[in-house]
This record gives sequence, C-alpha cells and structure tokens, in this order.
Amino acid sequence: MSNEIAGRKIWARGIVQGVGFRPFIYTKAVHSHLTGWVRNTSNGVEIEINGRPEDIQGFIHTLQTSLPPLARIDEIDIQPCPPNGYTIFEIIASKPQPGEFIPVSPDISICADCRRELFDPQDRRFRYPFINCTNCGPRFSIIQDIPYDRPLTTMAGFEMCPTCRQEYENPLDRRFHAQPIACPQCGPGVWLEAGGERIAAGEQAIQTARRWIVEGKILAVKGLGGFHLACDATNPTAVDSLRERKHRVGKPFALMAFDLDAVRRNCHITLQDEDLLLARQRPVVLLERAANSPVVPDVAPRQQTLGVMLAYTPLHLLLMEPASGFPDLLVMTSGNLSEEPICFDDDDARRRLDSMADGYLLHNRPIHMRVDDSVLRVAAGQPYLLRRARGYAPDAVPLIKPAPPILAVGAELKNTFCLTRRQYAFVSHHIGDLENYETLKSFEEGIRHYQQLFHIRPESIVCDLHPDYLSTRYAEQRSREEDLPLVQIQHHHAHLTACLADNGWSSPEPVIGLSFDGTGLGTDGAIWGGEFLLGGYREYRRVLHLAYTPLPGGDLAVRKPARMALAHLWQAGIDWEPGLPPVDTLCLEERTALRTQLEKHINAPLTSSIGRFFDAASALLGLRQTVTYEGQAAIELEAVADPCEEGLYPLEITGDRLDPAPLWQALLIDLYQNTPVPILAARFHNSIVAAAVEGCLRIRQQSSSRVVALSGGVWQNRFLLERTVKALQRANFAVLLHHQLPANDGCISLGQAVAAAAFREA
Ligand code: ZN
Ligand code: ZN
Ligand code: FE
Repeated sequence: MSNEIAGRKIWARGIVQGVGFRPFIYTKAVHSHLTGWVRNTSNGVEIEINGRPEDIQGFIHTLQTSLPPLARIDEIDIQPCPPNGYTIFEIIASKPQPGEFIPVSPDISICADCRRELFDPQDRRFRYPFINCTNCGPRFSIIQDIPYDRPLTTMAGFEMCPTCRQEYENPLDRRFHAQPIACPQCGPGVWLEAGGERIAAGEQAIQTARRWIVEGKILAVKGLGGFHLACDATNPTAVDSLRERKHRVGKPFALMAFDLDAVRRNCHITLQDEDLLLARQRPVVLLERAANSPVVPDVAPRQQTLGVMLAYTPLHLLLMEPASGFPDLLVMTSGNLSEEPICFDDDDARRRLDSMADGYLLHNRPIHMRVDDSVLRVAAGQPYLLRRARGYAPDAVPLIKPAPPILAVGAELKNTFCLTRRQYAFVSHHIGDLENYETLKSFEEGIRHYQQLFHIRPESIVCDLHPDYLSTRYAEQRSREEDLPLVQIQHHHAHLTACLADNGWSSPEPVIGLSFDGTGLGTDGAIWGGEFLLGGYREYRRVLHLAYTPLPGGDLAVRKPARMALAHLWQAGIDWEPGLPPVDTLCLEERTALRTQLEKHINAPLTSSIGRFFDAASALLGLRQTVTYEGQAAIELEAVADPCEEGLYPLEITGDRLDPAPLWQALLIDLYQNTPVPILAARFHNSIVAAAVEGCLRIRQQSSSRVVALSGGVWQNRFLLERTVKALQRANFAVLLHHQLPANDGCISLGQAVAAAAFREA
C-alpha cells in the first residue's frame, strides 16, 4: 500500500440530476476514504477526489458498475489532477453554464419505499397523495426549465416546512434534493369538485370519489401528466355513458389496477407481462383477457386483449385501494374529447370535460407538460412499444454519431417530433393526430418546450413529402421565417432509417426495409405502404411493392373498408357478386358511383398500402365494413386469426410488384366453401409472411443483403410480426425490430432526423 495521495477530476453526463446521484457519490467517496467535492453543472456532474490510488480506483470501479436506480451515465471523462487540499468530502453549489444542457428524467412511478410509507400509519406521510423521493415522482411533467431545481418546477409555489427542508438538505436522506419533496404540512393537496363547488378535501375527497365510482359516476381525475376519465370497468351503464359522452366509438379504453393480483383476476399474464406492468414507467400493457373477467366487453370491443396499467402515483393507489365492493379495474382513459389532446390544466379541464365528468378529483400541483400514458405489449419475445409517452419521454435515443441541431416534425397521425443535439435524439412524447387545432397547438407548445429545455436551436428543419400535413406546413413556415434549410424525407424511407437508428445500426451495408403501413406519400405521387426498400440512412431504392390498387374517394376508402374491398376485387378483375359482405353493405347507388370512379379514375389515387390490403380482407371476411379509428379493421382481423392454421394463398412476385389477384381468387373459393373465418384470416396473414420472406430472398440474390428492418404500423400486428420474424430468421436473415420507439408513425420524426443528418454529412 502506498501513502501517496493522488487526485482525479471526473466529469459525467447522462441522467445524473434529480436521481440521487450526488448523495450516492458522497456516500461512496466517504466510504472509500476520499476527500474532495461533487457538484451539478448545466451539462452533468463534476467530481474532484483525493486519496490513495487504490481507493480512487475502487471508487471509479463503483461508478462504472453500480449506480442509483434511475441514474444513467452516457459519457464519462476522468483526468488526473493535483490534490485540492480538501480534508472532507462535500456536496458543493451547482455551477450553471449558459447554453449547456443535460438529459431530463421522465416521470417515474411511485417507488417501493414511498409506497410502504404511504400505507404506514406511523409515517408522517401516511396516506399523503403526493409522497415522493429522489427515486420516484414527477419530473418531466413539472420541469419548466433547467437546471432541475425546485424554483424552475411547478413546485416553486410550495415552501418547504422545516422537516421537509431537513430531509432535502441531508445528503444521507432518501429525499436529499428531491425537488418535488412535500408532506401534508407543506405540500399540495387534493379536493373533490362538482357543479363548480368543492365537495370535500383530503382523505374525505378520496373516499367520496371512491363512493361515486362505485355508484357508477364518471370522474375526471388529475394525475401526473394530465387528466383521466375514470369509472367502474365492470359497470355497463357507466362504460356506455363514458363512450357516449366522450364520442369515442370502438376504440378500447385503458384500465388501471391496484396491484398484480387484481390484474391476474382479469387477465392471463406471463412473467414478461408482469415485468412490463411493474416497470418503473408503469405503461399500459396489452394483456390477454381472462374469460371470467367481469370487465364489461364494451371496454375493448371485439378484442381479446385488455390494456391495463398498475396504479403509478400515490393518489392512484389511494383511489384504487382494494375494499369489498370496490372494482378490481377502473377505466382510466385520457381526459379529452375523442381525437383532442389530453387535458392538463384545471380550467381547461373544467371547460372541456364538463359534459363528460360528474365530478373532478383535483389537486394544486400544476402540470407543466402534458404526457399521455404509454402503451406496450410483449411481442416477438420483447417489450414492444405502441405509444411512447409518460415514463419514456423525454429520454433520448442515443445516436451512433453526433448530429447537428435538427428539428424533424414527423408525420400526421400518431405524431411525434424530434430534436437532435450532439449524440442525442430527443424524440417527443406522443402528440396525437395532427388533424385539429388543439393538437396542432400542443405540437407547437411541445416543440417550444423541448427547444428550451435542451437548449436546442435548430439549424435545419425536416418534414414529410406530403404538402398538406399540418406538420409539413409548420416546417415550411418556420423554415421561411427563420431562414432555415428545409429537407423532405420520404415517409417509408424514414421508417427504415428510424428502425436503423433505433437499433444503433452503424454498418454501411445496405439493409432491406419492409416499410408496411397505412399511408405515406411516395415519390411518384402514389400512396405507398407496402414497400420493400434497400438502403441506409442516406439513400434507398424501392425494389418491390404491393401492386397498386385505386383508393376510391381517398379518405372515404380509409373509413369504409367495404369500398377498399371492392376496389381490390375490381383491380383483380373479380366480379362484385351479391352475397359478398362488402357488396351487400353498400347500396346500389354507392356501388354504381364507385364503379364509375374506378373506371374513370375519378378521385381514386393509387396505393400500395398493406394497411388498406388488410382493410379489404377484413371487409371481405364480413368482419368490418366501416371503421371508427385507423387500423380497426386489421386489428379485428388479427383478433380472429386461428394461430394453429398454417395454410396460405398465393401472393406472387411479378417484376417489382406483389400481385394480390391470385390471393383474392383463392380466398373467395375458401369463402364460398364456408371455410371458417378464423382459418381465412390466418391464411391471409400467412400469405403476407411468405411474400415478405420471398421478397427478401430475391433482394438478397441481387444485393447479398442479410439484414431486414421491420417498421410501419402493420408491424403492430403481433400475429404477422412474430411469424415474419421466425420465417426470416429461418431463412438466415438478421431482423431489426423497434425497441425504443413504436413501429408506427411515432418513429417517423427520428427517421427524418437521422436521414437528414446523413444527407447533410454527404
Ligand atoms: Zn420514492
Ligand atoms: Zn413538509
Ligand atoms: Fe407510416
């Protein structure tokens, strides 16, 4: 052992603020007999340590191997320096540097320690709905600016009581520098409101709210990132009237449970499902519904799954506490009128939810940024995102190479935007469908907030090719106003590049991209959506695609799969025989007009969309002739497909196209022979799987590419996804799936950003 004293200066970047990082450093340093200091800066944490070389080495080893639960180091720099003369180890004041940035933690569900204290009658925060600590609680939704300190959060208005302050200032306390720290003496409170009046406050408000729910009322509940509309999921009258008041037809409602036991009584869950339900993000997880569950079928019409999340805030736990006569599951759907963004401001909620809620469970901790619940399912053996929001955003997607500051505005449906800075891509939380003023406003506010939070001033803007998307118009306007270059990236190329970036793909080898979705404007003016691309970040070639079919009436054909089915039959040269469900659905006038439209090419753009291909099949099988939300017909087709069926129809490749005509002929023969619909549905899926693999094999013959990236909303179909992955792997392809982002258009903004960055580099 040596007696010499050495010094080190350590600089760490990543999620290192507001997550108990400095107390952790303090404890470890003292433990290792080191002196010196640690402090927050505007872009991370700085540490200076002095001690014996072996102690320093041990300390650095700890840093690299064990961290507090929410902390993550992305970059670390360690330099020798002369010992600084400190005789103790200290946490010193933060050092702000203008223009710098650090990642901001997402909102985190209540931790096990806080949960224990919440239900401990001896604890001073017993049954306090806003209990939190450095390991849990609100973050992103309450942060107005960085550095992440209390005055820059929506907790600024609450002055800490002496006891809270003591905990806040004690490096050894679990609440050291927990910015949202609060207690019943000094923190926010809850109350219940109805008809413009306060009915009750505190515990009494929660108990009254619970009683109202049992009585079948609908409550607006202010949560972490916005309002929910809550009701008893086992009460048909309550669920019905919620659907009616919200103008939400068909689309499933999310549910909330107190704990895993309550979920198990209603769903069949695997160990992987359990892990996902218990993950600190506490997302909504799609689970297989148990036949004996008392949940009203109309919660998720025509689906075999239920979307369930566990209570993730102390307020939710108190609201959901098990008791005899209280339901296991509550509907917890976002507090909004269908298609509008979730309410997050009290007055806005009072205005917009007034016709929907019988009462409001409110609190006075303001929400600065609205964030919806995230939605996942287990698919292909991994957690698979369907909607990325609370708990995930604003975590950055790490890039393989530093990028210049770029703003990518995403697509139209399931919009997200993306801002890049150095090696980070900040993909926003789910914004929604950019089809109305409210959502557009939320999109613009979101961009402003992210730019400010991460101090990003974009040097270029990226958008879709589609001139009518509100995101494209926003991009054009900003590019004009701020004199910034505007780059347009084709939608399906963006799917491919998003999947590459999601997987940290860095090889120059071209990848086969199967970009299968509903809609995206192609470079030839047609609406693409069944694309076999070959390329990388910068360039791509469209090698194969589903043969074009007219989309009669554009959006009308999207809303009415029956029209799509007839368009497909017409294109395949098959007669519209009476007795076929889509033929019988449409009246003679509509069919006549449709035929004219098809024959004369009136308002019938061409499409290679696989989403619409699914719609047509769903209609032909008599499952769904009109839809109330995007993807509904395909979701219902997937739901009935028989997993034991291996048969398929011919979907042949001629030239650069997949020709669906022989598939329709074979499917109709089955249909006329009264083959059960679940068999037909499975065969339809299997045909696409086989065609996808066959297409990839052909491309491999020409290009020797062995890697396939699956992106686009169609890959949210688990039946199709899992069979395609297996079949591709059997054919010796490596398959890239999305991990950090959904396969749907929520990934487009990332794809646009990385494609534009690669383009700029060239
Ligand atoms: Zn906690
Ligand atoms: Zn207090
Ligand atoms: Fe798409």
